[in-house]
Amino acid sequence: MWWKEPVTSIRGVGNKKAADLAALNIHTVGDLLEYYPRQEAYTDFSRLKTIAELVTDGSKQLFKATVYQLREGFNGVRRFITVTVRDETGYADIFFFMGQRFVAKSYKPGTTLLITGRIKKGRISKMVSEPHCQIIDADYEQALGIIPTYNLSGSLLQKNMSTWVKYALKKAEEELPESLPERVIRKYSLIDRVSALKNIHFPENWKLLSEARKRLVFEELFLLQCGLLYYRGQRQEERQGLKHGVDGELLQQVTKNLPFKLTAAQQQAWLDISLDMQDVKPMHRILQGDVGSGKTVVSALALAKAAENGYQGCIMAPTEILATQHYETLKEYLEPFGVRVALLTGGMRVKERRKLLMDLELGLIDVLVGTHALLQEDVRFAKLSLVITDEQHRFGVEQRAKLTNKSDYAPDVLIMTATPIPRTLALTVYGDLDISLMKGKPPGRKPVQTLCYTEEKRKDVYAGVLRQLKAGRQAYVVCPLIENSDILDVRSAESVYTELVQKFLQDIPCALLHGRLKATEKDGIMADFVAGKIKVLVSTTVIEVGVNVPNATLMVVENAERFGLAQLHQLRGRVGRGSEQSYCVLLTPADSSEAMARLQVLRDSDDGFYLAEKDLELRGAGQLFGLRQHGLPDLRIADILRDTDVIVQARNMAQSLLKNESDWQEMLTFVERQLDDRFRMIFNV
Ligand code: ADP
Ligand code: MG
Repeated sequence: MWWKEPVTSIRGVGNKKAADLAALNIHTVGDLLEYYPRQEAYTDFSRLKTIAELVTDGSKQLFKATVYQLREGFNGVRRFITVTVRDETGYADIFFFMGQRFVAKSYKPGTTLLITGRIKKGRISKMVSEPHCQIIDADYEQALGIIPTYNLSGSLLQKNMSTWVKYALKKAEEELPESLPERVIRKYSLIDRVSALKNIHFPENWKLLSEARKRLVFEELFLLQCGLLYYRGQRQEERQGLKHGVDGELLQQVTKNLPFKLTAAQQQAWLDISLDMQDVKPMHRILQGDVGSGKTVVSALALAKAAENGYQGCIMAPTEILATQHYETLKEYLEPFGVRVALLTGGMRVKERRKLLMDLELGLIDVLVGTHALLQEDVRFAKLSLVITDEQHRFGVEQRAKLTNKSDYAPDVLIMTATPIPRTLALTVYGDLDISLMKGKPPGRKPVQTLCYTEEKRKDVYAGVLRQLKAGRQAYVVCPLIENSDILDVRSAESVYTELVQKFLQDIPCALLHGRLKATEKDGIMADFVAGKIKVLVSTTVIEVGVNVPNATLMVVENAERFGLAQLHQLRGRVGRGSEQSYCVLLTPADSSEAMARLQVLRDSDDGFYLAEKDLELRGAGQLFGLRQHGLPDLRIADILRDTDVIVQARNMAQSLLKNESDWQEMLTFVERQLDDRFRMIFNV
């Protein structure tokens, strides 16, 4: 198949270009075809901006202008050439450094240029940095029509990309089998595969571009939905669901014995869950609640309900620390009433583990708490009726499926998360999942006081750390990176740790925690922090996941501008868990007024959902909701937020189409015909 050939099979692609392509994740001829131009990156030459229309916001823009004059300059470090261009509306200065200066010298006054670059405000005229120019004729634009702009790397040029993509398109015209079932194409009036590929790269007109996009988006989402159905076991879900009875005496006792009254939000969530559990149809519910909203107790009630009905329940957490915390809590809530709770982790001794697994299989354990260790083959339940995962996007679809397959019946599934997920993503990632939302927090919690400081205040911040420590409290210091980086000017966890230990906190037990440590090392450090043996924990975002150390009252975040608001909110949720006033200090570099403005939102709001929406506005969906976090392939062309309707259509289509085994076999041939392997992985072929 030509599309599996390496890019080096194309004439003109040598090792150097191949390496640059590889940096864009393009390895094969097929990958080139799937390297779609970004949606906003097509330029219609009838709609070129004039200089007056260019927006001075630093964004990349394209315009046409005539060379007016060239000047050489020196900024104390580097030589440069300024090319001033003009059109009937004004002037702009284009800056060329280094090797580009020689190219610039060939732009004689009077030459017409097609220019892309970042447009900023200069003192007199507009400034263009990172320029790419092309000399054009006056009648060039009519001939061009709509052209794509590709993201490039290394030595690649737009010209290279379009030549190679055209080569691949030619191959596709000769031979490329259809990759969607005929029924689907007809039902949604999609254009054929080859036309779609041609028009996504070199659209004949805007209408065909949108048709091409429609087809490719549909195909991508359809395959994804099919893959999800496959995972959800709907392919051949012959197992029956289990029915739990209405709440009985055990639940009454457990509820009465809780150290607090359930909030209204918790009661509502519990009602949703308990009704689901009483239904024979398996529950597929996600419980979304902000950090500290009190999800654990709701899961405890669900587990009690499973036990009350003579079944078993399990809860899986992403880290050993969290699993241990849940275990302690569940023991406290449930054991007084005869519910047998056990903990299974990776680090258990063989003998202990064997005994536990035996008890589990004999039904002597009602509630099993654990980490990924729960997924292991030899973990077998007697009668599992409820699977809970407590996660912050840490588990993939595959892992969840593994757990639910540990029962002869289809168990009820509850997913708990502190990350707000838009409805569309829930549909994409979880299929037809029901959602319970817990807004707000239990009463009596003092809100964390959030402070935004720039670098100049560092000494004062450290003084603040010392004050908290003197008062017997503990603190977190969070950094974006583990080690110093050549590329990013960011304070790393290692350097901050060294500075603290050597200079500011000499006699105070500190520890450094990051993802590269072994699990046992991490757990050891966390256990010491929980026990109060370690006073200051310098770490990367590994502590993001719901650790509960009520005595920690201060969190300092280094280079806070590098984090999303929702993520900072999650981090902040690690403090403010006790009765003392807690603080979160967001540190940013000296010159960061923009970042400061963004971070103020955190100072003013404690609502994770609001902050997630803000994040979405500010950073776009891609960053926040990568499918890969869910163990799924990332999307190349579909946009989870924008293409909501298509997601629903694709889901319905997948459900109605894939009723029996032969449908699945046919589907697999379409998966085979994909240009790359990303869908194969979810279909296990
Ligand atoms: P999360 O939703 O982040 O997992 P937790 O379940 O860990 O939150 O709960 C956070 C804290 O709130 C715990 O210390 C818990 O005991 C407490 N809590 C939960 N529900 C209530 C309530 N209804 N009233 C008072 N405190 C509560
Ligand atoms: Mg939690």
